[in-house]
Amino acid sequence: MPRESLLVIRALLLKLSNSRRMARRVTSNGVSRRMARRFVAGEELDEAIAAARACNRAGMMASLDYLGENVASEADARRARDAYLGIFDCIAQEKLDANVSLKLTQLGLDLGEEFCQGLVETIVERAAGYGNYVRIDMEGSAYTQRTIELAKRVRAKNPAVGVVVQSYLYRSGQDVRELIGIGCRMRLCKGAYKEPREIAFQQKADVDANYIRLMQLLLPSGLYHGIATHDPRMIAATLDFVAEHRIAKDKFEFQMLYGIRTDLQQKLVRDSYRMRIYIPFGRDWFPYFMRRLAERPANLVFFIRNLFRSR
Ligand SMILES: Cc1cc2nc3c(=O)[nH]c(=O)nc-3n(C[C@H](O)[C@H](O)[C@H](O)COP(=O)(O)OP(=O)(O)OC[C@H]3O[C@@H](n4cnc5c(N)ncnc54)[C@H](O)[C@@H]3O)c2cc1C
Repeated sequence: MPRESLLVIRALLLKLSNSRRMARRVTSNGVSRRMARRFVAGEELDEAIAAARACNRAGMMASLDYLGENVASEADARRARDAYLGIFDCIAQEKLDANVSLKLTQLGLDLGEEFCQGLVETIVERAAGYGNYVRIDMEGSAYTQRTIELAKRVRAKNPAVGVVVQSYLYRSGQDVRELIGIGCRMRLCKGAYKEPREIAFQQKADVDANYIRLMQLLLPSGLYHGIATHDPRMIAATLDFVAEHRIAKDKFEFQMLYGIRTDLQQKLVRDSYRMRIYIPFGRDWFPYFMRRLAERPANLVFFIRNLFRSR
């Protein structure tokens, strides 16, 4: 498929990911539900716990993500907070090697920063009580500044929290330097949203080159960071860099998404690298699923073929 067509399809999928009407249609369709299971562990917590247990048995850590974003009411945001408190209790009871990833718009960022911060603080306190950790995912650029500032404020009270930086954003080099300066741990990823050229690299080669630059800033910082990618070239660049700079294998971790490149996950574990699998679960899986389809057109072709086959 020509590159231009791919970009159009990708942009369309990312736009559709915000449509509540589309979400209702797709999530009530049996075929899409089955297909989403490739990327989503299930709709209930016990399914995510089972997936985390399987990861631990395979020598990998987990990060549980209770799917949901852009809640419309304070009651929904409080429900999400309660779900995360329950997840930390469950991780502790089950003695899992797992932490949690969450999105601020699921905890009411659109409804008020102070309100959202209060909920996040409660979750981070619960995590810290168990010696555990909260990772704040990074959403679209409308939220970047607010996410970083809120994370810094919460972190000033309790260090059991870290953020995510996206290599497609021009600003990320500056963010990484500032966050290293305050001792904040980060996850580095490429970025999953549609962003304009005024603020973000548009070409894959530029996003990748910046990924490598940011990785080279993060890893010598002496802080424990997550290198989140399935891209063999980003992984090779990381392995070369840590070998050259004698950075020990337990000073950082690789991170990958549930259901993607399991072969590569296992290979890195066999080579004694630390690997954490991001395990999403919950009923609100539509936007996450659309972002995964947008990342790889082959997924979309597979999805459409299955939809037609089922008729
Ligand atoms: C642990 C983790 C957490 C993340 N958290 C965030 C976040 O907080 N905010 C954010 O914006 N983004 C997040 N992302 C998504 C990230 O930004 C990228 O969109 C995604 O990881 C694809 O980039 P890549 O590095 O794998 O490289 P790419 O160049 O996109 O892909 C490299 C190779 O990986 C495989 N691959 C990648 N994606 C898929 C897919 N969907 N299906 C099948 N194969 C695939 C393919 O083999 C592809 O050739 C996260 C990613 C990971 C791994």
